[in-house]
Amino acid sequence: MRPADLLQSRPEGLYCPPGDFFIDPVRPVARALVTHAHSDHATSGHGAVLATRETLDIMAIRMGEGFAGSVQPLRYGERVAIGEVATTFHPAGHVLGSAQIEVERGGFRIVAAGDYKRTPDPTCAAFEPVRGDVFITEATFGLPVFRHPEPLAEAGRLLQSLTQFPERTHLIGVYALGKAQRLIALLRAAGHDGPIFVHGALRRLCDYYAERGVALGDLPDATIERGRSRDFAGQIVLGPPSAFASAWVRRFADPLIGFASGWMQVRARARQRGVELPLVISDHCDWTELTTTIDELDPTEVWVTHGREEALVRWCSLTGRPARPLHLVGYEDEAED
Ligand SMILES: [Zn+2]
Repeated sequence: MRPADLLQSRPEGLYCPPGDFFIDPVRPVARALVTHAHSDHATSGHGAVLATRETLDIMAIRMGEGFAGSVQPLRYGERVAIGEVATTFHPAGHVLGSAQIEVERGGFRIVAAGDYKRTPDPTCAAFEPVRGDVFITEATFGLPVFRHPEPLAEAGRLLQSLTQFPERTHLIGVYALGKAQRLIALLRAAGHDGPIFVHGALRRLCDYYAERGVALGDLPDATIERGRSRDFAGQIVLGPPSAFASAWVRRFADPLIGFASGWMQVRARARQRGVELPLVISDHCDWTELTTTIDELDPTEVWVTHGREEALVRWCSLTGRPARPLHLVGYEDEAED
């Protein structure tokens, strides 16, 4: 079988002809398999959606119960026949519920990893290495210059700043799905037991993570009553990036602006956002994680989706592995890193 007979690029996304389904389609289709609930991968209006219980729940929280005609939850490791193929979801280590999708027909296997990382993350199941003939990888940080630092040390830098500037409100930008909960878990692991205040836009997903057994501790609302902004002096307040463009920020006492993202290792991006405390915490692989994963899985062929495809494709070729970019459109670098 030619790999392209099993999965191929279409304008809607990756399409499987013998199963008649798409993986992470960016336009409405009859049947979608969704790797995770970030908004550039999980869209509304599909006839049927197959995903993990967590991904389906988060899609419903964000888009409303009617986001698809019908839904089917799949457990990690559960093998499901769709048309002439067998599919299995495996943990991707990216955010709660995130999955790699294995598609198999007649012993030929393609593994679409979706967004993934290898660094341990207490808020989701760890990436499971799955061998296949073709491995489809993202390349968000697919350049040798990208090296993510130790995430616990980044959380430690925030706590250090808090000690150094006890009068300032530490306002940290985090994406609502994954990054918020991971930063909270890292702060807890670094020994911060006190309250961590959260903006209303982060509330539902933090509650959902806690419901699914991810311990996050005390997370009071970051609501300011008139003239009480001093209450937040020396406290950590988390908000979505969008809130930082609004008047919300100016309500806090002498705010110190931080932002948690893999992109914070690019100084120009931190400056652009006016970030005083850039925290390099990424839910994607860095260059070393990408290349060691490909070495470990040793696929016959590598397909590269969104990100810096060229460098990773070239690295694969130099190490004797056929590789090609898929040029899928619609997946954004920074949509919800
Ligand atoms: Zn993602």
